[in-house]
Amino acid sequence: MATTASPVTRPAIVWFRDDLRLRDNPALAKACQGGRPVICLYIHEPREVGRRNPQGAALWWLHGSLATLDAALRERGGQLHVLAGEAEQVLDALLEQTGAGALYWNRRYDAAGREIDKRIKASLPARGVEVGSFSASLLREPWTIASQSGAPYRVFGPFWRALRQAQIEAPLPAPVNLTFAPLAVEIARRFAYPSGLEPDPQQPDWAVAMRAQWERGEEAGLACLRDFLDEDLAGYADDRDRLDSKTTSRLSPYLRFGNVSIRQLWQALSSHQHDGAGTGDRGIEKFRSELGWREFCYSQLYHCRPLHQHNIQPDFDAMPWRRDEHGLLAWKRGMTGYPIVDAAMRQLWATGWLHNRARMIVASFLAKHLLIDWREGERWFWETLVDADPANNPASWQWVAGSGADAAPYFRVFNPVTQGEKFDPDGIFVKTWLPELSRLPAPLVHRPWTASPAELEAADIRLGETYPAPIVDHAAARARALAAWRSLRG
Ligand code: FAD
Repeated sequence: MATTASPVTRPAIVWFRDDLRLRDNPALAKACQGGRPVICLYIHEPREVGRRNPQGAALWWLHGSLATLDAALRERGGQLHVLAGEAEQVLDALLEQTGAGALYWNRRYDAAGREIDKRIKASLPARGVEVGSFSASLLREPWTIASQSGAPYRVFGPFWRALRQAQIEAPLPAPVNLTFAPLAVEIARRFAYPSGLEPDPQQPDWAVAMRAQWERGEEAGLACLRDFLDEDLAGYADDRDRLDSKTTSRLSPYLRFGNVSIRQLWQALSSHQHDGAGTGDRGIEKFRSELGWREFCYSQLYHCRPLHQHNIQPDFDAMPWRRDEHGLLAWKRGMTGYPIVDAAMRQLWATGWLHNRARMIVASFLAKHLLIDWREGERWFWETLVDADPANNPASWQWVAGSGADAAPYFRVFNPVTQGEKFDPDGIFVKTWLPELSRLPAPLVHRPWTASPAELEAADIRLGETYPAPIVDHAAARARALAAWRSLRG
């Protein structure tokens, strides 16, 4: 197509990535300025380009988010074009065919993605195409929060204090009066995404419980936020570690895929505070600091070597991790014999989500009790979490394993029994996910191996048959983990 028209009357392409929403989407807002027609695009990039694509549960979430965004655009007379291929090739063909005068996106922070974006940004101005990138996933760009020496923070406290003082932009409204430019069928065919938007698993249908638990997309994310503000925020500071009831926001997949923006969330907290909605400031501040941890993880993703592959603390490269296929499988299947670990791992498999405390317990169990490389666990989470996040997941695994930035010390080994007793005192969480233990009274439900034969019989449990005996002894496993850790220090 000829490109003699002025760049402001030529269509603008909006390349959606981790920002699957209409509201507070600066790339979309910019594209619509002056009534220009837009082409809304999502590209499934192939693995070969080195990016870590969503898989399993997160891919399921992504598909649902794309479908709801597409539906929202169709209501406004357009659509989301979901294509597959190397971004540079797809965009090249699209610019050629549509004569678009501009390309806009919101930034991503992984090294491979940034490299691709840099190349595209450098190549297009020579073709008369304006390129713009915007901040939309974080409160502040990672390079703007640095210590006085200019180096990135490696400790959360000062990072958070610096971020807390920074000005946070207000979210943008959704654009009104969108107009759309068409896309040639030939392009849609050439870069077709083979599985379509809703390739929900059928045989076996592993998404049954996920569908029951989650509504994907922007409107569902905002409803989830409203629920949290109304129901849970008031108790957040005190109750957030409880496993036996809903105490946290469950906003993580919406934030991961940008169904809800972090600035919308920030503003909603401020409005809630100013409304005097009966919520103590402690809850709001605690919640904000969790959002700060998310920013801290993204700062690590931006500044460090690929987080899912490399220990941030290089001395952990010498950790004598064990190869233990049997232990790894037992952990994945929720068959370790430690009820709090097993309940969590079964919840993860069924629903694609876990409470932060449960994530810490199971991660600690893998990296310390089983002494299995944290990267194995990180990979499993990557496949099974709906919110599998390129920053939060590896950074948090490294935090638990001790190899990360400002990490939990390796010698702090969670005791799965006392963790269960403290955060699930009545065994409600365990019994929800391990029905085979439902008849065991509360004190025993976190340590069934200490029940007497009569108690086991009364609860209809045969250890080793209906429920496993512990695959490791806590004290021995702890001693082994500490010896391995000491070996790092010579
Ligand atoms: P809330 O308590 O309601 O917190 C609100 C938001 O703050 C979360 O949605 C999340 O975006 C952010 N947040 C909260 N806690 C943390 C934290 N410790 N680190 C970073 N951000 C945080 N979070 C992910 O979003 N994706 C992951 O893949 C992921 N993997 C994890 C793996 C391990 C081993 C651990 C220990 C934690 C992981 N987390 C991950 C962080 C945290 O557990 C989840 O964000 C949180 O449990 C999600 O539930 P929520 O939305 O109800 O959290």
